[in-house]
Amino acid sequence: MGARKILHLDLDAFFCAVEELHSPDLRGLAFAVGGKPNERGVVSSCSYAARAKGVRSAMPMSHALRLCPELRVVAPNHARYQAASEQVMSILHGHTALLEQLSIDEAFLDLTDLPQPGEELARMLQTQIREQTGLPCSLGVAANKLVAKTATDVAKARHRGGGYPSAILVVPPGEEAAFLAPLPVQSLWGVGPKTAESLKTMGVETIGDLTGFSEAVLMRRFGVMGHELYLRARGIDERPVTTEHSARSISQEITFEKDIADGARLRDTLRSLSEQVAFSLRSKRLCAGTVKIKLRKSDFSTFTRQVTLEQPADQDGVIYAAALSLFEGLWEKGQPVRLLGVGTSRLGPRAQQLSLWDTANQKERRLLDALDGLRERFGEEVVQSGRKLKGR
Ligand SMILES: [Mg+2]
Repeated sequence: MGARKILHLDLDAFFCAVEELHSPDLRGLAFAVGGKPNERGVVSSCSYAARAKGVRSAMPMSHALRLCPELRVVAPNHARYQAASEQVMSILHGHTALLEQLSIDEAFLDLTDLPQPGEELARMLQTQIREQTGLPCSLGVAANKLVAKTATDVAKARHRGGGYPSAILVVPPGEEAAFLAPLPVQSLWGVGPKTAESLKTMGVETIGDLTGFSEAVLMRRFGVMGHELYLRARGIDERPVTTEHSARSISQEITFEKDIADGARLRDTLRSLSEQVAFSLRSKRLCAGTVKIKLRKSDFSTFTRQVTLEQPADQDGVIYAAALSLFEGLWEKGQPVRLLGVGTSRLGPRAQQLSLWDTANQKERRLLDALDGLRERFGEEVVQSGRKLKGR
């Protein structure tokens, strides 16, 4: 099996970058987003010009102002950050469903299936995000999540100067342990201050130092965690990029200008809503496990019904068939309808290229089964492949 292509993306000074987009006069200034100093506010995000003066996030604002008296303090606009984050994540979703969002400004992507080298993919994403949102970001590329995230952190830490880092760092497969070795052991994922303190008493300062201990010794000292430490210190991390679509849903609804009581029109509407939903599923490379409908009567009473599909689906016909059967069970002939909606949930990534394989395999399987049936009935000679027949 070849190495995976895992990318870790982190937006640079995210809140500040969004604020600069809204107030270009902030550009290049030392400023911080956060609470007011007289209200015991802390720094949520600070510009790189402020960082150059020693300001850091999570620092009390009053302290930040002592370090940097000209610091401009900007009140946070969380709705703005949420909207910008959604914009970025939807750009990423355009490339893969294998996206794991870690926080408002951080995500893992598994781009193993794409043909381009990891570095090229990272540049492409960085350019696309800058062009479409105006936001800078840094990326780490590696064969696993642990090393990809560490690569981003290292790339950002190496950055000097007042501007955004917009850094990209690639750790080629096989070089994980060498890349991690010189880093302080605290930078290893899962090593908190307590573990770091404990490791220090064993003479461990860097991740490389940690590789000097056998798994047995580490397990005696740290239990199951010792096993993890042993693997992580060597840059080994098999965890998959996990998508979290379980809470999400994709739906479409329409409120009629005038209530509709005509069954044919309602079914037509249901079909077009189903097609729109199926199309968004496919464009996000997702399949839905559940289909539901929503129906509002003219008196505003609202009903929903849902059904679990036999197999997750993204096809117009499957979504429509499920929606229609729910509709037939809910709607009484002649009843005026004010609003109609089709929704899907329990979303999961479509099994990417595998699904093509599966379909091809299923077709082949069916063909083979049919041929087998013929063989049984009429004997071997009857069955010849198309190519053989054409060749005659
Ligand atoms: Mg960030």
